[in-house]
Amino acid sequence: MTPFSYTRAPDAESAIRLFGQAPAKFLGGGTNLVDLMRETIETPRALVDVSGLSCSIEETQSGGLRIGAAAKNSAVAEHDAVRSRYPVLARALLAGASAQIRNMATVGGNLLQRTRCLYFYDDAARCNKRAPGAGCDAVGGFNRYHAVLGGSPACIATHPSDMCVALAALDAVVRVRGPHGERTLPFTELHRLPEDHPEIETTLAPGELITAIDLPPLPFAARSTYRKVRDRASYAFALVSVAAALQTDGGKVTDVRLALGGMATKPWRAFKAEAALRGGPATHAAFVSAAEAELADADPPPGAAFKIELAKRTLAAVLGELTGISA
Ligand code: SF4
Repeated sequence: MTPFSYTRAPDAESAIRLFGQAPAKFLGGGTNLVDLMRETIETPRALVDVSGLSCSIEETQSGGLRIGAAAKNSAVAEHDAVRSRYPVLARALLAGASAQIRNMATVGGNLLQRTRCLYFYDDAARCNKRAPGAGCDAVGGFNRYHAVLGGSPACIATHPSDMCVALAALDAVVRVRGPHGERTLPFTELHRLPEDHPEIETTLAPGELITAIDLPPLPFAARSTYRKVRDRASYAFALVSVAAALQTDGGKVTDVRLALGGMATKPWRAFKAEAALRGGPATHAAFVSAAEAELADADPPPGAAFKIELAKRTLAAVLGELTGISA
């Protein structure tokens, strides 16, 4: 491990100031960053520990919830308001990692965790994300876990988070503080597609710190869920996952929120499937058509082609679970 300094920030303002003093990284629970440092994939000169900052989960004036970025994944998953009003988020969190990791990992860190592409972790492999311009060994290699949506010739790595898939579906808002003040951005604009620069993964400016996530009020999210399909029952990343909330009235879909995980280079809000469903009949055929609309532009590497059919079936099955309508 490359030598580094460590400072525990007492507040967000201090964290941002300390960050500016050296090539630094913010440290949350460390469940991904410390692994990357052990492998010398990340080599910060300084760590600014922000795990002692806000971990509260509070009501907002608009009727939603604000989750402090230092809240532990397990605390969010167990929170009564999250479980009753946003069950899709609680279930996504419980589908991720192990109980021990969820007890350490923070919400802010979860958002910024890096891909688990095998080649990214192997310094003998070519990887544009680790070494820009080096090439990508996943494109012609073992790519069963790679993206079928949002990829580029430079990178096809999937985003690994389960929680982020639920946040994308829920229209979450990211609260950020940086050297130039505070701002908010829609969750769907936090992560960027790889295009020619897969090493740049978010739209955050240098030194910006995620301070909280806002969940807007969404009453019909009380009927929402998350389903994760993976190679083994626990402690595995998604091949395909679906976050879904659905509202129906008189046999019609009146509103819907959908996102996909394990399928794309960022948490993938399924806007096309939502548009296909909204205002139409709540039938199995409509659920399948919506899934087909979302996946029409999929461009899978050979090893991941199976994910297209798997995603269609999973999406239709999850909507069937929420409505009681099946094939
Ligand atoms: Fe690196 Fe992305 Fe290629 Fe994986 S898919 S080897 S992370 S460039």
